[in-house]
Amino acid sequence: MEKFDKAKLKQQLSPLQYDVVVNKGTERPFTGEYWDNHDAGVYLCVVCGTELFASGTKFDSRTGWPSFWAPVQEGNVREEQDRSLFMRRTEVECANCGAHLGHVFDDGPKPTGLRYCINSASLKFRPQ
Ligand code: FE
Repeated sequence: MEKFDKAKLKQQLSPLQYDVVVNKGTERPFTGEYWDNHDAGVYLCVVCGTELFASGTKFDSRTGWPSFWAPVQEGNVREEQDRSLFMRRTEVECANCGAHLGHVFDDGPKPTGLRYCINSASLKFRPQ
């Protein structure tokens, strides 16, 4: 469920960002801006600027996508069941605007055991 204006977003975002955020697309691994970013800071929603993930929970998942073991704050992301592509996955969205972010899996590291697999295209990094 999105709260954003698609026509406006089409002008503001790159075609890739739009495809990921609105059409729930996935960027190709190892191509995004942030999978290999090790700087300290916070990752914001590219659409609405909500704080989503912090560098302190980022880990190297070797998947080619930015991966985190927790959101910056519970309630800032929303999880939805995704049964597309004949798979059962849990989709992750920005809780504020509904932008598609990626998926969450239960094969992550301690302390949560979760792996939030997020598209760089959905994020905007704010260095500390
Ligand atoms: Fe948002």
